[in-house]
Amino acid sequence: MTENCLFCKIVKGEIPCTKIYEDEEMISFLDISPCVKGHALVVPKQHYENIYDVSDDVLSKIAVVAKKIALKQKKVLNCNGGNVFFNVNQCGGQLVPHIHMHVVPRYNNDQKIFKFNIHDKYEESEMKTFGSKLKIN
Ligand code: AMP
Ligand code: ZN
Repeated sequence: MTENCLFCKIVKGEIPCTKIYEDEEMISFLDISPCVKGHALVVPKQHYENIYDVSDDVLSKIAVVAKKIALKQKKVLNCNGGNVFFNVNQCGGQLVPHIHMHVVPRYNNDQKIFKFNIHDKYEESEMKTFGSKLKIN
């Protein structure tokens, strides 16, 4: 599975990337098709598919690197904020099945529509039911 993985190939240097960060366990490089210029991906060197199988340790390290990248974007690109997220599985828009966190710089009034613009609505007491089902003790 990992032999044919695009991001494993990037990690191994078999496919080029514009790398902006590297440590023992992580790399970050620019997304080839950015939502906004400077859009970066944080990728662990070890192959995990997504949030369902990643170890807690690697997940935490992804978040720490994403913070470094976001702060760097803010400093050098003067962005006003951003979007930091994972897509999960095909239904969630995940195209590359090697976990990666998107770190996208955003500017006030940048006209990039980047929010959930379709809203569902709970029937009466349904929110309570969902809350009980999802509660983690
Ligand atoms: P996702 O849809 O969350 O799986 O995101 C995959 C991202 O990888 C997309 O935003 C692509 O533009 C990006 N991408 C695909 N191929 C490359 C590549 N060779 N180098 C950098 N980014 C890539
Ligand atoms: Zn991989």
